Order: sequence, then C-alpha cells, then structure tokens
Amino acid sequence: MIYADNAATTKLDADAFEAMKPYLVSAFGNPSQPYFFAKPAKKALKRARVTIAECIDAEPEEIYFTSGGTESDNTAIKSVLYREKNKVITSQIEHHAILNACRSLETLHIPVEYLSVTNKGIVDPKTLEAHLDDQIGLVSIMTANNEIGTIEPINALCQKAHAKGVLFHTDAVQAVGHIPIDVKALGIDMLSASAHKFNGMKGTGFLYIKNGVQLHPLIDGGAQEKHFRAGTENIAGIVAMATALKKNCDRMEEAEQKLKTLETIFCQRLNVLGIDYIRNGSDNHLPGNINISIKNAEGEMLLHRLDLKGICISTGSACDSVNTQLSHVIRAINVPKEYAEGTIRITFGWENTEEEAIAIADAIGNVINH
Ligand code: PLP
Repeated sequence: MIYADNAATTKLDADAFEAMKPYLVSAFGNPSQPYFFAKPAKKALKRARVTIAECIDAEPEEIYFTSGGTESDNTAIKSVLYREKNKVITSQIEHHAILNACRSLETLHIPVEYLSVTNKGIVDPKTLEAHLDDQIGLVSIMTANNEIGTIEPINALCQKAHAKGVLFHTDAVQAVGHIPIDVKALGIDMLSASAHKFNGMKGTGFLYIKNGVQLHPLIDGGAQEKHFRAGTENIAGIVAMATALKKNCDRMEEAEQKLKTLETIFCQRLNVLGIDYIRNGSDNHLPGNINISIKNAEGEMLLHRLDLKGICISTGSACDSVNTQLSHVIRAINVPKEYAEGTIRITFGWENTEEEAIAIADAIGNVINH
C-alpha cells in the first residue's frame, strides 16, 4: 500500500500515541474535578495548551480546544450572529466547513461575499479591499488551500481587514504543523487548526482567539475552556495533538526539504513518461502538495485504477452517471476544460519515500499511456 493522501488525513505519530495512552487507561480523571486523581489530567491539559501556543507564537490562554477544524471554523464564522455588523467576506475556494457555515448564515439573511481568486488560487488583497464596506463583521480566508496547496498572503489580507476595523479569521487546518505560523506576526484575530492533519488524532483541534477579541460560544454547557467551549475535554486527544504538533514544528525545515524533493522526483518522472499535464496552484504552496490536471483524462477513473494497485490519492472531480462534477476549487481557478476533468491530488507526507513517488508516477503513466 502507498498512502499519498496526507491532506485528507495523516497517520497518528508514534510518540503522540504513547503520550496519550496514560490518559485513556490510568490517569483518566475528569480535569474539572477537584480531587487528587484528576490532577494529572488537569496538568496535561495545561502543558498541552502551553506547547501548542509556543508552536504558533500565541499565549496559552488564547488556545481553545475543539473537536477539530470544522468546529473551529463554525465557531468563528457563526460568531457574526451576535454582532451588529454581520456581513462576511470569504473566498470561493474555502473548505466546505467555511462555505457551508456561510450558507447557513445566508439562510438567516446574513449577507456573505465569496471573493474570486487568481488562476493560481490566490486571494488578491486588492480584491478584498474593494469589497470591504462598513457592514462587514468578519473576513475569513484560508491560510493554505486543501486541494491545490496555494498559500495565501494572510498578513496583507489581514492588514486590509484591520484597516477597516474588521476581524480576521483564517482556516489554517492544512497549514499548521507544515509551514511556519506566527499568529502575532500575521496579526490575525482567529485561527482554526485540526490535529489529524499533522499526525495527531481525528476529532481534536483548536481555535486560536487573540486576547481581547470577544466571541460568542458555539457550544453551550459546562464551564470548560473558560465557558467558551463546553464539554469534557478530550485529554488524550489534546495530549496527542500537542506532542504531534511540537514534533512537526521541530522537524519542519527537514520535512520541507524532503517533501520538495519528492515533488520534483514525481514531476520529473511524469515528464519522462510523456504525460501531458498542468500543475495547479501557486509556486508558493504547501510542501508535498501536487495537484495536477492531465489532458483528456478522468480523475475519478485514475483514482480507482490506482486504488486497485494499492495507491491512495485524491481527485478534483467526481463523476456521476451523466457528467463530471468539477470541484469548486478547480472551477474557481479556471483549469482549461480538456484538462480539468483529469485532476488528481497527491499529497506526500513525512513517511513517503522516493521509491513511492516514482511508483505513483509510473502507475499513473501506465493507466494514461495504455
Ligand atoms: N478546513 C480545511 C482547509 C480542511 O482541509 C479540513 C479537512 O479536510 C477542514 C477544514 C475540516 O477539518 P476537520 O476534519 O478537523 O473537521
């Protein structure tokens, strides 16, 4: 089996797995309880918050644990329900966690603008500036796109929003643990992250909220997370998330070198095999992300043929019995029609090897050339 779909999810890191175990089987106390048995859980929660904050240059009290990227995104977007100015600006290429949260707002007659992007998938700060009127309550633009890997100019976008006194949120689910993130340098007000994208556990994540920014909770209940996010904390998952994030941040430069090499090897092999393809996204992209559109191919057919060979990749389109539905990202960047339906995404991770990069390219060549 070759797993090259690390943007979909990643393998739990072995050290993260070890670190979480005690909180499942021995130190399983509820951190909200006052007795001695709950102390290790409470301490672990505190330590994890400090570790995570250090990894993104935040303060520990600015980190709110959630059930993952979708919840963090919904919390940020739906916070406008409690604001006087509630119009939202986002982009056409956001993840559905943002887009569908915005559609929900629209059913409540809250206006949302979806900014177009360049053909590299970049949200131009000037486009944002042109759309900022005095009704806007929130701007939300992703740090890096999950399909094509394009890294957005977050600092410049945030400055445009702040110049008009508007809050800025970024969905950094694909970026955290993979590219350097410094919330203070970026100047942002909120940031969403998800552990299973950086070798943590599925169903854990966090929302960074800058000190001083007032948000209304999405989930009401107990007093956890300073009354902001109710529900007994997933201590084991949170410990695994902190361990995995620290490890990913410590080896980030090494990982980038390695993943860029895999990208080069893979693309060179496709070229040798004479595959006619376009590489989608910007040169400034997530390490290990390769989104390509192959001329006159069908992405979904390719995915299934590779699946039969034990190779896991992803596609930018889905076929039904009548026609092919291109993903909203591939449509937004205007991939030429004869290429668009042949879009696939390969996302290499820390454990992938050069042999695997060549084997995937060869398998694609085999399907396309025969
Ligand atoms: N945002 C982006 C950019 C994503 O890629 C994903 C997951 O694919 C999410 C949000 C949702 O995160 P989660 O799976 O943790 O709910």
